[in-house]
Amino acid sequence: MSGILDGKVAIITGAGSGIGRAASRVFARERARLVLADWVEAGGNETLRLVQDLGADAVFIKTDVSRWEDVKAVVTKAVATFGRVDCAFNNAGIEGESAVTHECSLENWNKVIAVDLTGVWLCMKAEIEQMLKQGHGGAIVNTSSGAGLAGVRGMPAYVAAKHGVAGLTKAAAVEYGRHKIRINAVCPGPIRTPMMARLLGERPDAEQRFARGGPLKRLGEAEEIAEAAAWLCSDRASYVTGVPMPVDGGFMAQ
Ligand code: NAP
Repeated sequence: MSGILDGKVAIITGAGSGIGRAASRVFARERARLVLADWVEAGGNETLRLVQDLGADAVFIKTDVSRWEDVKAVVTKAVATFGRVDCAFNNAGIEGESAVTHECSLENWNKVIAVDLTGVWLCMKAEIEQMLKQGHGGAIVNTSSGAGLAGVRGMPAYVAAKHGVAGLTKAAAVEYGRHKIRINAVCPGPIRTPMMARLLGERPDAEQRFARGGPLKRLGEAEEIAEAAAWLCSDRASYVTGVPMPVDGGFMAQ
């Protein structure tokens, strides 16, 4: 059976949990060969087992996306294992501490920017370098957020980083279109993942209150973001580039 990513070599960061794990499974179903990266070894290895059970060729590499040496090692591993890099889902991210702008610590600011913005740029830098060497183009999808399109209270570094990812996506799309490298972003709304569970905390009615705020009256599932990322990475999206695409049950349409 063929899939929309048949034979493509795909890097997925943040593969050990939430959206990254769901993407790993969807990309495997669509017949991609996978290079899974996460800084949590146990989560990454569990995702590796899940995709291998689906029949995928895959490797896991422990990676901190905010470290250039780690990110270079991911691309090196992809080339050593599968011979090339065709697409990438740069998805790893952290939410950071909750604090309004004047109370946000410099430490929290630096940490969130390092992972959520610099991390995406480092991944793109290494992936694009490899794709240019190969000379056949490629597709990159970055994870921004609804918080990359509008302000959200209590997470200034996250909002700044995710707006940065949306901007970087457009800048790189403009730069590398002539090399047939398409670069897009997904902007998830509230998605049921471990990160969202941490943000909602212990309050029992928090999820329902949040869900009621959107047109579809529910949170999204990680698989719904994964499906969009797989499509954007595939040749079916051949004329789509430079788009920070909301996948948010209509939250941003309000
Ligand atoms: P998640 O369940 O926390 O999964 C993210 C994974 O990335 C975790 O395994 C995490 O490890 C890992 N990670 C964090 N920093 C890393 C680093 N420096 N290097 C490598 N791996 C790292 O979160 P998620 O909800 O799936 O989020 C995935 C992406 O979607 C993030 O970029 C997030 O900002 C974005 N997003 C999520 C939502 C949502 O509602 N869930 C909405 C909009 C955007 P740790 O568990 O140790 O942090």
